[in-house]
Amino acid sequence: MADRSVDVLLLSVGSDLPYLTGYVAMPLERLTMAVIPRNGEAVLVVPELEAPRVEPLPDVFTVRPWGETEDPIAIVASLTGPAPRVMIGDHTWAVFLMALQSALPGTTFISARPLTEALRLVKGNAEVELLRQAGGSADAVAGLLAREAFAGRSELEMSRRVSALLESNGTDVAGFAIVAAGPNGASPHHEAGDRTIRAGDPVVIDFGGKVKGYCSDTTRMFHVGEPTAKYREIHDVVLAAQRAGIAAVEPGATAESVDAAARRVIDDAGYGRYFIHRTGHGIGLDGHEDPYIVAGNKQRLEPGMAFSIEPGIYLPGEFGVRIEDIVVCTADGADRMNRAQREVIVVQ
Ligand code: ZN
Ligand code: ZN
Ligand code: ZN
Repeated sequence: MADRSVDVLLLSVGSDLPYLTGYVAMPLERLTMAVIPRNGEAVLVVPELEAPRVEPLPDVFTVRPWGETEDPIAIVASLTGPAPRVMIGDHTWAVFLMALQSALPGTTFISARPLTEALRLVKGNAEVELLRQAGGSADAVAGLLAREAFAGRSELEMSRRVSALLESNGTDVAGFAIVAAGPNGASPHHEAGDRTIRAGDPVVIDFGGKVKGYCSDTTRMFHVGEPTAKYREIHDVVLAAQRAGIAAVEPGATAESVDAAARRVIDDAGYGRYFIHRTGHGIGLDGHEDPYIVAGNKQRLEPGMAFSIEPGIYLPGEFGVRIEDIVVCTADGADRMNRAQREVIVVQ
């Protein structure tokens, strides 16, 4: 904050607050906001009815509960004082920022992201172990899904099954489970629907959840019955691209060079125009965070950075293939948080 001439940091909903305090604010019309001055005591302003959920950290912050008839904006404004430069968390609701701008007309508000992302970008050992646990739980689910009968069940039914398996195999909270069968797989973020999975369908399953706040996110390809030669060809290209992306991970390499390594394999195979998204995204307390593995991102990788490598080929009207692992950059290259089989998984 001193380097950036910032007087006060304000954090509300989103992952920055739990990263620093352990407390997850409820996304409510009632304001929760940590007021963290450059010098002096940090104060967590919370609705009185939420205060019992706050785990006290007396050396880190004090708690200021506000009652239903108090004005929390006035409380935050008085704690902030006449600060010229205030950083505010990116996920703060606009309605609260606008109220603060009215209450503190002399203050310039800037995004907290450059500061908080810099803190969160490089994971410590304990964080990496939670990512590994989360990844291990997802891998266990991929293994269990390989023994399920897919044909005759709807995407939505399979999606609910994936979420249930996550929660019964070590994931605290299931987050999402994309199940996209047949041509639906050509839409990368397809919402599982009522399509019945049938013989001959490739099925994209992209799923994840959280372990002690840290996310998993993996994609595996299932196929109902024996795949066609064309399916196998595309799957092999995507797998080769994913391996190339993982092999490009090393300290000092840029994020965009990892994207380029994966993309080159797909380009060379003639499917470049069907790889319609970046190669990956950072992961931690948020499912998507810095660093983004995308052309134009010259961020240099450092040991401890965690991100997905998830190339895909999407053929409209036919099918899609994506293979995704979470990796952590180490001095020796990529450490994979996911170990489940990446070859196509043939199911009934
Ligand atoms: Zn995605
Ligand atoms: Zn995913
Ligand atoms: Zn992902």
